[in-house]
Amino acid sequence: MLAFLDARHLVINESQRHFAPRTTLQLPTPDALGHILAEEIRTDREYPPFDRSTRDGYAVRSAEAQPNSTLRCVGEIKAGDTVHSPLPSGTCVQIMTGAALPPGANAVVMIEFTRRDGDSISFERPTQPGQNFVPRGSEARAGDVALPSGLRLGYAELAVAAQVGHSPLQCYKKPRVAILSTGDEVVPITETPGPFQIRNSNSASLAAQVQLAGGTPVTLGNALDRVDDLSARIEQGLREEILVLSGGVSMGKYDLVESVLKGMGAEFYFDAVAIRPGKPAVFGRCRNTLIFGLPGNPVSTMVTFQLFVVPAIDVLSGASPRSLPFLEATLSESVKEKSGLTHFLPAQLAWQDSRPQVRVLRWQGSGDIAALPRSNCFVVIPADHPDIPAGERVSVLPRIDVL
Ligand code: AMP
Ligand code: MG
Repeated sequence: MLAFLDARHLVINESQRHFAPRTTLQLPTPDALGHILAEEIRTDREYPPFDRSTRDGYAVRSAEAQPNSTLRCVGEIKAGDTVHSPLPSGTCVQIMTGAALPPGANAVVMIEFTRRDGDSISFERPTQPGQNFVPRGSEARAGDVALPSGLRLGYAELAVAAQVGHSPLQCYKKPRVAILSTGDEVVPITETPGPFQIRNSNSASLAAQVQLAGGTPVTLGNALDRVDDLSARIEQGLREEILVLSGGVSMGKYDLVESVLKGMGAEFYFDAVAIRPGKPAVFGRCRNTLIFGLPGNPVSTMVTFQLFVVPAIDVLSGASPRSLPFLEATLSESVKEKSGLTHFLPAQLAWQDSRPQVRVLRWQGSGDIAALPRSNCFVVIPADHPDIPAGERVSVLPRIDVL
């Protein structure tokens, strides 16, 4: 059986093979959060555009502003002021953070290290050339690449686009991800379930995970465990680039997803992964759609989505696939699992004096979503090291939605 990292590599390779040049759209800069940039953005001018003071104080010639020396203050410069005239020797000007140094000045002395007596400023400390200002052009030269194509746009990237005056931004269209739950027992969340029915929580979590991953969810409701209903709804799902199904991939008599897909011409790259929860996860392709059949137990669905569907969304978004953001933390209570499978256990990560500690939650297994709101990560228990005492370091997969 495949280890989860090998299964991920298969997903990444097949998604890359499958990737076609994407259509783009223009988005106002503030709306482009979470999109992948489809153009290269260059700076419009030097940054900073002038020698920019980083302190409130006095702009000086450093050689003249030494302990026990005194300079006459001949004016003030605040942020936004136009500055042309050179600083006459033997003088200084008061300057504010963000303001431009006058020509001739080569340092700013913080106001805290000066004394003022009328127009006369004296200095307490030695002054070094270059101190307390950012030289013009030292952050970026005019025409430098500020944001390369293919970059994921977070808040800092939007700030750079805004700084260089670039809006709208040309972005790749997000991949559309069809979501289809399966199961005779599953009813829509707007309905009251009968005594032996359950609400469709998987479609809710999957839609949220698709959005977090940078895709557009297309929910297709729930298919009954019948060949005709499954085929009809899968047919709808095959209009999208990715189809994610939940349930119906185990060994039961009514687990029909794989056989129905096969009948519709799907080929499979894997149909089991050595993990718990999530072992029966299926990945394949039918016509032009990548297909994931995730086990229906809600926590299995969540874990397998994070491990296998996210990299496919990354690739089809026009980005390079993100690594799994593993952290290391100290286990606060011992854990014992069966060997042979890599376990992903819902857990609570907290920092004590900035040292990460993690505690596995008590839970009833992969159907127990009631336990999940107390988790902010999954502890990863290796297949060959399933018995871990308290105090050991373990690998942790954060839930990026809440952590
Ligand atoms: P399956 O993978 O189809 O064997 O389903 C495994 C378990 O997950 C069963 O207990 C199902 O009732 C539950 N389950 C399946 N689909 C959903 C869903 N859409 N929402 C919540 N639970 C589900
Ligand atoms: Mg089922």
